Amino acid sequence: MAEVKELRCVIGDCRFGVDEVSYTCPAHGELGTLDILYDYAALRSQLDRDELSASSAANCWRYKSLMPLAPEAVVPPLSVGWTPLYDAPRIAQKLGLRSVYVKDDGANPTGSLKDRASALVLARALELGFSTVSTASTGNAAAALAGLGASTPEVDIVIFVPASAPAAKIAQLLVYGAHVLLVEGSYDEAFDLCLETCAAQSWYSRNTGVNPYTTEGKKTVALEIAEQLNWRAPDVVAVSVGDGSIISGLYKGFYDLRQLGWINRMPRLLGVQAEGSAVLAKAFDQGLDPLDVKREAVATIADSIASELPRDRAKALRAVRRTDGCYVTVSDAMIQAAIPEFAQLSGVFAEPAAAATYAGLKRAVSAGLIDGDESVCIVSTGNGLKDVDRARKSVSGGTRVAADRAAVEVALKSAGLV
Ligand SMILES: *Cc1c(COP(=O)(O)O)cnc(C)c1O
Ligand SMILES: [Zn+2]
Repeated sequence: MAEVKELRCVIGDCRFGVDEVSYTCPAHGELGTLDILYDYAALRSQLDRDELSASSAANCWRYKSLMPLAPEAVVPPLSVGWTPLYDAPRIAQKLGLRSVYVKDDGANPTGSLKDRASALVLARALELGFSTVSTASTGNAAAALAGLGASTPEVDIVIFVPASAPAAKIAQLLVYGAHVLLVEGSYDEAFDLCLETCAAQSWYSRNTGVNPYTTEGKKTVALEIAEQLNWRAPDVVAVSVGDGSIISGLYKGFYDLRQLGWINRMPRLLGVQAEGSAVLAKAFDQGLDPLDVKREAVATIADSIASELPRDRAKALRAVRRTDGCYVTVSDAMIQAAIPEFAQLSGVFAEPAAAATYAGLKRAVSAGLIDGDESVCIVSTGNGLKDVDRARKSVSGGTRVAADRAAVEVALKSAGLV
């Protein structure tokens, strides 16, 4: 319900009214992603964080007053956001940190943080009167759009997904009744096809790094982390990075809170990439300008963070540079090992791309990038049930036993349980 002051290009000093452009800056093309900015002085005088904390909305719409929607805007009925923030003292102890929190965004309706972006994009699509919304996705953004779309019968959903996406993710799309195009190619190819088709058919494009409303939806995870910690930002917020849209959303959420004076500093953002999909980590280390970032072939078990040319690279590099944060990379072996370790230390079952964040935090601590007296929030971006095959490969054990009491006793003894 916040009135948008302007859309501002991340590359040049280009500014637009909210109805002037829909996607990226016309002058800077696909690299010219836009920030949705508000009249913060006005918001400071209108809004009160304690009043907001008294909201009974147990979902992301408790922050509607910080979102780019008209007061009368209709929002999808599925309850997205306001996911749990857990204290994880055993992780803190293991890593030698003052405190560690886990923001469990796998608890969203379709099982990933992507629901936050899809919810706001669909609200905007309804406001603009579109009847078809489309996205390309490695799986989770598509599931989010399909699920939120199923709760919003006014719009049809068309999904472009690589045919190689995990079976559970494709099943999810079909169950929700989306029109699914299984592209025989990479995510990046599916992405370009989706953009061209949206333009040709005049469909609303939810695509990451193209539609600025995705960042505004994802920023709600930062608003929640701050509110759940009584408006104190942690020292570091860690998240895995593929296209760079989530880390950009985290930055924007904390940025908005700084502008409002509701938190007194920005947390450092720690971006975690897979070694086999590390375009942003390398660009950060080399101090590259977003304009000079090049496409690279990728290979990782963490399908949700595989991106040859991160679509939100300009915002994602800015997010980490401006917060004095950094990027680290982790191997597939580290990601695989992190799945059970993270689950057993926190109770949160994360898909590979989300467990990668825990692996990356361990790496950052051992590299001396985080001090022992600091507090860290791990954003767990997707539910482990999204990729059961991979989870199964990360563990062994289970004792086969005949359906017989005596056999159970023998098995318990040999397992050392009794
Ligand atoms: C999309 C996704 C990410 C990475 O987000 P980007 O915006 O692409 O950087 C990480 N984890 C999960 C589970 C995701 O679905
Ligand atoms: Zn521009």
